Amino acid sequence: MSIYKHIPFNKPYMTGDESFYIKDAVLSGKISGNGKYTKLCQNFFEQKYGFGKCLLTTSCTDALEMAAILINISPGDEVIMPSYTFVSTSNAFVLRGAKIIFIDSTKDNPNIDVSKIEKLITNKTKAIVPVHYAGVACDMDVIMDLSKKYNLFVIEDAAQAIDNFYISRDGEKKALGSIGHLSTFSFHETKNVISGEGGMLVINDSKFYSRAEIIWEKGTNRNAFFRGEVDKYGWVDIGSSFLPSDIIAAFLWAQLEHIEKIQKKRKLLWELYYQKLKVYCNKNNVKMPFIPKYSAKNGHLFYLVFKSKKQRDLIIKKMKNNNIDAVFHYLSLHKSEFYKDKYKGEQLYFSDYYSDNLLRLPLFYSLSENQLNRIVSIIINEKI
Ligand SMILES: *Cc1c(COP(=O)(O)O)cnc(C)c1O
Repeated sequence: MSIYKHIPFNKPYMTGDESFYIKDAVLSGKISGNGKYTKLCQNFFEQKYGFGKCLLTTSCTDALEMAAILINISPGDEVIMPSYTFVSTSNAFVLRGAKIIFIDSTKDNPNIDVSKIEKLITNKTKAIVPVHYAGVACDMDVIMDLSKKYNLFVIEDAAQAIDNFYISRDGEKKALGSIGHLSTFSFHETKNVISGEGGMLVINDSKFYSRAEIIWEKGTNRNAFFRGEVDKYGWVDIGSSFLPSDIIAAFLWAQLEHIEKIQKKRKLLWELYYQKLKVYCNKNNVKMPFIPKYSAKNGHLFYLVFKSKKQRDLIIKKMKNNNIDAVFHYLSLHKSEFYKDKYKGEQLYFSDYYSDNLLRLPLFYSLSENQLNRIVSIIINEKI
């Protein structure tokens, strides 16, 4: 047992209203999908962020799988995405037979290097999947221009990007998730607003609206039937059971009612880390999170990038000795056991660099300033 009090990497924040809304859902007697709370959550997102149609899903992974079905990914199609991402970004398309074209991260942050996309577009390319890492926006103007020029779909993996914004080159502020044809969000307990497991598909291109509902409901036109648009419902397409129980949605609703408060606190903690570590990082050649001028911030995660894996791992060990969980993040997917033999592209220097050198610090709603100071002091007292 350590003499130091444990600081976990993440601690899910409960607003206190979750059990009230879950109880209400239970007492209503209607707890399957697409009930009262599902509709409340979906409307909330559509109205607050200017999203097209929103459909809650059981995870962001499921939302990505729905997206792959919606754009008709078939064997041999190529899908462009960063290698530095979560496995589901890629797996959802591989499940439908796609070949993944992995692109390197930028030198400044782990987001996809948009300058490397165009030369990898072929007549088999079907989609680009930018991932807003740490909730920081990718360069969406460039990606949307490429999508228009080559007639490609853009699916934003916005799992970490709730309540953040992109500032387009003509100065327009757009919510992340509102820009691509489709976008996916996660409410996994490690994200900013949570439902344990949970996610959402955002459909911004209205031509996908009706088919998305069908795929969501096991390939049936059940929703159109309930709206009285057809007089019987049946099997009309492929699909699966992608919709969560209304109990999950009731939990999420409690979180959404407090989203402003949650975001304010997370952004404050992010700023504290930034201010307190700035001088040390400058002096020691450790990189801070880089926020491009086209991105706002959402306080999803705070990371540092060390000069070497050895230094990074040393800090992880120091943290452990002090009973603090600081953790690395993705391992390049193109080098994963599953994909390495299939990958024929060039070396992805920055993807590997973030795999080796990036460290995430604890950041969660109930992290106190004292705890944050303890974390910071361990870093700045370590000679590297
Ligand atoms: C969390 C995350 C996912 C997966 O979300 P689930 O809801 O757990 O399926 C996918 N992509 C990225 C970038 C994520 O951070």
